[in-house]
Amino acid sequence: MKTEHKTPVSLETLTALCKRRGFIFQSSEIYNGLNGFWDFGPLGTELKNNLRDAWWQDMVRNPPLGPDGEMIDIVGLDSSIIQNPKVWAASGHLGGFNDPMADCRESKSRYRADHLMVYVPESGEGTAFAFLEGEPSVAEKRIKKKAKSDPSAYKVVPYNELDPALIPTVWGPDAQEPGTLTEPRQFNLMFKTFIGAMAGEGDENTAYLRPETAQGIFINYKNVVDTMRVKLPFGIGQIGKSFRNEVTPRNFIFRSREFEQMELEWFCHPDEATKWYDFWVQTRLDWWESLGVDMRNLRRRDHDEDELAHYSTACADVEYQYGFTAPGFGELEGIAHRGNYDLSQHQEASGTKLEYFDQETNEKFIPHVIEPSSGLSRGVLVLLNEAYTEEFVPKGNTEGGPLLAEPGTRPPEGYESRVVLKFAPRLAPIKVAIFPLLKNREELVNKAKDLYADLRKTWPVFYDQTGAIGRRYRRQDEIGTPYCVTVDFDSLEDDTVTIRDRDSMEQHRIPITELRSWLQSKLV
Ligand code: ATP
Repeated sequence: MKTEHKTPVSLETLTALCKRRGFIFQSSEIYNGLNGFWDFGPLGTELKNNLRDAWWQDMVRNPPLGPDGEMIDIVGLDSSIIQNPKVWAASGHLGGFNDPMADCRESKSRYRADHLMVYVPESGEGTAFAFLEGEPSVAEKRIKKKAKSDPSAYKVVPYNELDPALIPTVWGPDAQEPGTLTEPRQFNLMFKTFIGAMAGEGDENTAYLRPETAQGIFINYKNVVDTMRVKLPFGIGQIGKSFRNEVTPRNFIFRSREFEQMELEWFCHPDEATKWYDFWVQTRLDWWESLGVDMRNLRRRDHDEDELAHYSTACADVEYQYGFTAPGFGELEGIAHRGNYDLSQHQEASGTKLEYFDQETNEKFIPHVIEPSSGLSRGVLVLLNEAYTEEFVPKGNTEGGPLLAEPGTRPPEGYESRVVLKFAPRLAPIKVAIFPLLKNREELVNKAKDLYADLRKTWPVFYDQTGAIGRRYRRQDEIGTPYCVTVDFDSLEDDTVTIRDRDSMEQHRIPITELRSWLQSKLV
């Protein structure tokens, strides 16, 4: 059970750890990168796959019991990334999937106008100072230096709600003088591509990379109903890549231009939609908690009426306290009550009937939909934030357990610092590390390698024979390996090994013949 509440880790610390230990790299790094794109390294790929598989197992293959304790059915799908462009016209993405953006004529920077905030003088006189949401310090320094004033004499207004007459007075975040920002303009977030060998930029060849996985589900609703003998209510789940040409990709993998989503469309009778909406909001919060996320770092935020799309009657976000939002929260997942909007739109645009016929009641209707939609890449960021822990541990790895440390502080006498990623064993990229005590004793190395060869048939296992044992433990702590197994001289005599627990740092001996079943019971 968690008692102490950790201070959230800064984005800089986390990004550096992810690069150093092979979790996440800047995409195209040897060519100076590409803004908004990231590559998952060997450990990041394992972590992401584990989160993906946990969702698939807990949502599609073995979903939770429904609100009345009944079994529910969800089936999986893997639809294509490029779909007929009419899909995006019908879904509303071609016409309405826009973000307001503003350009800086001087620095050539581009900003999401709704993420750009402005300090506007309360007096109505003088220059206004813009800053990116959550980063007011540059603007505050300028207020003091250039306007010889105090930020308390200013009010904060989002740039896209600013009186247009004031735009020439605004000093952009990266500009050397005021008045360089353009008025906000709408910008469509879908990436365009062109289909076919002779494809030019003509409209008839234009297609789009999907900005969400959800529409692939709606356009296959009839295929699934016709082939899978599913009965309402039921769900279709899908995990896959989505692409959004974000105006300002930022905060590491929180907002990127290529990312993965895990989406469920739950189809039900209109009269039951509210019951299912409540069920899914609670179920999704519980799921994140089941992965080890501290509930103090999660919250439910219900959308206000003016935030809802015209067809939606309710929407709630699961929000997480990321290091860069703390003490505030940022979105992790959205659960939307979408009514029958999507199926109705596709029925009308395609001319294909998407009604459900209930054989028991002889009723024909378009089902209502509840959509829990979460980011897989953003989920990985949550797991990393949540797992990152700095601790003080007794020197020499002997007496006493670890103490939670305030990040960046020095250890007390007799202690040293360690960084440990406390992933739930189910999610940890490497499950077990195998060490021979000494690398220059053939008997130890052979026995350890035999063990390694056996265990890797079942789990991701790491073999390490270099350096002092304490250093090898630290390397595994920093990538979140829950168990380290050491083969020592006693192992040669009695066929036992020591297992060291990542979190408590306690060690115990166990016969090698029992190791597999012991690990099996822990790695769930
Ligand atoms: P925002 O308002 O932050 O742009 P959104 O509300 O449009 O996001 P949804 O369309 O509801 O997001 O997408 C569902 C989920 O997909 C989000 O909760 C998030 O986890 C993930 N997601 C959306 N956009 C991105 C992105 N650019 N990078 C990474 N994950 C994203």
